Amino acid sequence: MSAFEYAPAPESRSIVNLQSSYGLFIDGEFVDGDDRRKTISPATEEVLAEVTWAGTADVDRAVKAARRAYTKVWGPMPGAERAKYLFRIARIIAERSRELAVLESLNNGKPIKESRDVDVPLASAHFFYYAGWADKLPYAGFGADPRPLGVAGQVIPWNFPLLMLAWKIAPALAAGNTVVLKPAETTPLTALLFAEICQQADLPPGVVNIVTGAGETGAAIVNHPDVDKVAFTGSTEVGRIIARAVAGTSKKVTLELGGKAANIVFEDAAIDQAVEGIVNGIFFNQGHVCCAGSRLLVQESVADQLLESLKRRMATLRVGDPLDKNTDIGAINSAEQLSRIKTLADVGEGEGADRWSPPCQLPDRGFWFAPTIFTGVSQAHRIAREEIFGPVLSVLTFRTPAEAVEKANNTPYGLSAGIWTEKGSRILAIADQLRAGVVWANTFNKFDPTSPFGGYKESGYGREGGRHGLEAYLAQ
Ligand code: NAP
Ligand code: MG
Repeated sequence: MSAFEYAPAPESRSIVNLQSSYGLFIDGEFVDGDDRRKTISPATEEVLAEVTWAGTADVDRAVKAARRAYTKVWGPMPGAERAKYLFRIARIIAERSRELAVLESLNNGKPIKESRDVDVPLASAHFFYYAGWADKLPYAGFGADPRPLGVAGQVIPWNFPLLMLAWKIAPALAAGNTVVLKPAETTPLTALLFAEICQQADLPPGVVNIVTGAGETGAAIVNHPDVDKVAFTGSTEVGRIIARAVAGTSKKVTLELGGKAANIVFEDAAIDQAVEGIVNGIFFNQGHVCCAGSRLLVQESVADQLLESLKRRMATLRVGDPLDKNTDIGAINSAEQLSRIKTLADVGEGEGADRWSPPCQLPDRGFWFAPTIFTGVSQAHRIAREEIFGPVLSVLTFRTPAEAVEKANNTPYGLSAGIWTEKGSRILAIADQLRAGVVWANTFNKFDPTSPFGGYKESGYGREGGRHGLEAYLAQ
């Protein structure tokens, strides 16, 4: 029993003006479609609104609008002019940040303290950052007169709905492309609010088109013959389908796929600090993070001590209402994802790993999973190899730095990794040997628009963020 209990501190929903039904955002306007589906709050299963699922004809209309806007308005517009729109969008996101954060937490299930302090500020920062590049493209190292590609088709997942939209749209627009974007089936609402923000910013019609729907809508974008560039974030499985679909066409493609990151703790690390980093690495956003530190590799000599501290810390995590400002872990995004997590956790138990969760009361309605760790995990276990994409940590141990590197790299993925040690020389030596796109040292899950992000191997190809992120939207 803790010394005291927190009083509920719910953020008010009243700032969000939900409509009962949303159309598709095509050519600067919301247009109705025939196929309407409900979108819910994963924390309560309450219906929030109806959205339209776009069919092939709707996608075609959106691509045509994007092509017209590209040819007539956005492509020819001087970079300094494009920048003004991007700065305006960045400012409006900041101004409407509370509204965006509440809506994101409602539709996604993530804690308000994360949508408020991470997702929304970073989304705004991405637009500010790429706005700054729009008039400086000739100095970005891609030749004296780099050209946009044309129409970008963008498909994003549900784990960071607004932030992934920003990662996709900001560099595309800065480089002079127009876009057709599909948010994930379960999290369409902040993308639709972003469409309203485009209207508020007077963005010329057709520059941004938002088509909601499921996988088929995504496939219609990817396969549309007049799309010049495909940008995708999501599962490796769908990434493979997309790579096959664009092979043999002139479409450029970037894929940001899954991960199974190693978070490596050496015996000389500051243990309490490492524990905070481990918690952040796997329980941030319910573990729905492609670069989550889902494999903890801890040096054997400190394993017992570290696990004791980690369990003590996990017992203080507050699971529950995403809109409560004290909540650390919110709802799992969908019934489908919850069943995937449950299946893999059961597999872990079946394979003989030891499962532990702190005592924690889960709400009756909605989709919930208690923070969980597995110890006694071997490299052959499925929970050490497959992406669980939930609040589940697999713990392995090692004796020597060479063994840590060997185990860390023993994965088909290569998106991120973490190193915890007091020795700077060790950080550099280990980072050099890890096959991962991002390596954090004595921290984890730190993001910045200036820093490129992307994977090796089955984690995909291409980089988003930073100067590198422009390259994916420029012809060379
Ligand atoms: P997903 O199916 O890959 O979804 C990503 C996006 O692609 C969604 O917008 C999805 O639409 C769309 N999509 C689905 N099939 C498509 C197709 N054939 N062509 C074009 N677009 C298509 O991922 P998921 O089903 O949401 O999650 C499955 C697993 O993927 C998770 O358990 C996790 O391991 C991994 N994942 C990774 C990331 C990441 O950031 N790397 C993000 C999300 C999920 P719908 O939303 O309608 O399915
Ligand atoms: Mg899916």
